[in-house]
Amino acid sequence: MGIKVAKFGGSSVADTIQFMKVKDILMADPSRRYVVVSAPGKRYDQDTKMTDLLYLCHTHLMNHLPWDQLFQVVCDRFSAIAFTLGISASKLDLQSEYATIRKAMEEGAGPDYIASRGEYLNGRLFAAYLGWDFIDAADVMKFDERGRFLPEPTNEILSEELKKHHYAVIPGFYGADPTGKIVTFSRGGSDITGSIVARAAQAEVYENWTDVHGFLTADPRIVKDPQPIRYISYQELRELSYMGASVMHEDAIFPVRKAGIPINIRNTNDPDHPGTIILEKTPEGSMGVITGVAGSKDFTVIAMHKYMMTSERGFMKRVLSVLDTYDLSFEHMPTGIDTLSLVLDSKLLGNKLPDVIDDIKRTLEPDTIDVYENIALIATVGQGMTYRPGVAAKLFTALADKGINIRMIDQGSSEINIIVGVENKDFEEAIRAIYNAFN
Ligand code: ASP
Repeated sequence: MGIKVAKFGGSSVADTIQFMKVKDILMADPSRRYVVVSAPGKRYDQDTKMTDLLYLCHTHLMNHLPWDQLFQVVCDRFSAIAFTLGISASKLDLQSEYATIRKAMEEGAGPDYIASRGEYLNGRLFAAYLGWDFIDAADVMKFDERGRFLPEPTNEILSEELKKHHYAVIPGFYGADPTGKIVTFSRGGSDITGSIVARAAQAEVYENWTDVHGFLTADPRIVKDPQPIRYISYQELRELSYMGASVMHEDAIFPVRKAGIPINIRNTNDPDHPGTIILEKTPEGSMGVITGVAGSKDFTVIAMHKYMMTSERGFMKRVLSVLDTYDLSFEHMPTGIDTLSLVLDSKLLGNKLPDVIDDIKRTLEPDTIDVYENIALIATVGQGMTYRPGVAAKLFTALADKGINIRMIDQGSSEINIIVGVENKDFEEAIRAIYNAFN
């Protein structure tokens, strides 16, 4: 029987009721042998995530403000879960765990150590509740002295360690450097831990349990009841997440993708729902023409025109060096005969725009330069679009029928993505028009 690695996000492990749901999910399938947990998340809208509380403890510590009561809130939350689940001190001595953390804080522990204790304590609790082994991520997730994750040494050490445990709980989000100092991934990083564990376990699937049914074909705040996506390829996912659709940490894709392991997004609150499966290539016959539509607002387009631009040597290099000077990256760069547009994230551009324009005028001497602000980009993504004529026509007709002006078009060479730029004010209407045209 293959192995499944199941990662449960903050909302899935936020309180006693959620712990019980997770246990039922695990007991329903004995091949779910390795569990990765986040720190407890929000129990209700106004609640504070455990990780945020812990970062706050660190801020208080740094500013010589009293932190003890704040830390007590952290401890009380774990103690309440332990109490209601009937985990006795003989199974898990939480008081001594708290004392160790307090001592480390008094000795000036860093933010990564303090933040990681949410996952650590939750992992301990979970292992005690299930009666499974506990593997401390600090012993198996390896970072170098500069805080960079080391995938290969980790994979070697972790695979060996997993062989020693039939069932185990591993806390997400952190690991340690060669001196034993705790290092965390970026926020939401337990997804990455889950993926790394799945690779090391050579799992048949990486189940990522959260509080939604998976990916939807469009943002439900814009489109009413959008279709759920059953299968999506890694590349389609990358294109959609880049445009703002997010359920999972982006870096979580790499370890499992490398190992050819599919990811299954599942909902802890509706375990019978099959969720979304992310894999290298979606199965024949499973895909519609488009897989999803997503987008973001607030881009700036700098469009330049220069006669014979295409035959001017070094033109592109100089464009990029201007961006480099202002430490800017571009989102897209559609080109035409003698025209080139730079699409930049307006937030990153900030107040640098006038200087960037001056510099472009000076170093590139374009015949004209136009700037369009408040542009929204919308990506229509789907493996099913490849080699299929008429997709672009349908998309553009849908927008034209709504009177929406397209300010920019960009189709990547992979043919699985058509990006259009529209004015911010048309964004929602455009998403709905495209969604309705294909569903
Ligand atoms: N607890 C961490 C965070 O809130 C990591 C995670 O949940 O994935 O960012």
